[in-house]
Amino acid sequence: MSKTNNLFRPAEYFKPTSIKEAVELLLQFGDKGKLVAGGTDVQIMKDPQTEALVDITGLGLNYIQSNDKGLRIGAASVFTDIGTSPVINAGPYHIVAKAAREIGTPQIRNLGTIGGNICNATPSADSAPALLVLDAILIITGPSGEKSVNITDFFLGVRKNALEMGEILTEIRLPVFPPNTETVFIKKGRVATADLAVVNVAIRLTMTSDNTCQDVRIALGAVAPTPIRAIEAETMLRGEKPNEALLERAAVRASEEIKPISDVRSSADYRTTLSRVLVERALREGTSKAFA
Ligand SMILES: Cc1cc2nc3c(=O)[nH]c(=O)nc-3n(C[C@H](O)[C@H](O)[C@H](O)COP(=O)(O)OP(=O)(O)OC[C@H]3O[C@@H](n4cnc5c(N)ncnc54)[C@H](O)[C@@H]3O)c2cc1C
Repeated sequence: MSKTNNLFRPAEYFKPTSIKEAVELLLQFGDKGKLVAGGTDVQIMKDPQTEALVDITGLGLNYIQSNDKGLRIGAASVFTDIGTSPVINAGPYHIVAKAAREIGTPQIRNLGTIGGNICNATPSADSAPALLVLDAILIITGPSGEKSVNITDFFLGVRKNALEMGEILTEIRLPVFPPNTETVFIKKGRVATADLAVVNVAIRLTMTSDNTCQDVRIALGAVAPTPIRAIEAETMLRGEKPNEALLERAAVRASEEIKPISDVRSSADYRTTLSRVLVERALREGTSKAFA
């Protein structure tokens, strides 16, 4: 098909029934092919070079399974299912369900998938901080077979991810966590519902019986070119007995690790202040829950 203007008018639509067929189609069309799941981002981006859509909703990738090794979420699972899933709402995983329930509107949550949210790789993607603190492993299938990628290595820049030509994110795996592990997710948009995050924050804390922080993760979104971990703040807490002053200092450190910009949603200064406040709030909630 020849393009005469910049309109998004893909001439071809495919709905493959196997991952192999989907990979082959993506390879066949190269830069002119676009994988589509829920399409909620694809139809906003309207990439004019797209000539063929490869719809992955017929590949059986909409499942949520748990076993003794943890949780497996098919990449094409929609947010409505994730937000209401009993297994995701249980234990430390509940922050993935909470993030899902705070995405867009019911219509968006009925179509939008967790795989699309991650692969779209916007800094504000709400599932990203939750998956970062849960040490998610991404299962990616492509021309050379299947591989696992730690989510910390997946986000490369604004709308840039680690996927190579012909690769599809097929599954998200979350490990099992020790007892006394608490997680918290907080999103702040300009308005209470149906808005992208000005800042979103997730934390995971594992405490010992003597109130020592055995392990911790802190992640933030919408405050850097990619969703990020606040590694230095985590280091301040690991192995320590948290008190008010330490939680405050860790939150300040987290707000120093970000690289926010000013845009239509917020100034960079406000994002910095909000990051400090939300990290501190999340840490307080996490530590208090661990001993509730
Ligand atoms: C009105 C509106 C409100 C929104 N609100 C929010 C919000 O509050 N929070 C938020 O985080 N997002 C929000 N979004 C963005 C969007 O809905 C989510 O990012 C959604 O999860 C995208 O999923 P999808 O299945 O629709 O992705 P698609 O649009 O189908 O795909 C998005 C991108 O990811 C690629 N892709 C999708 N699945 C895969 C896969 N399995 N493997 C490889 N590549 C893949 C596609 O090729 C495309 O580049 C909103 C969007 C709209 C239109």
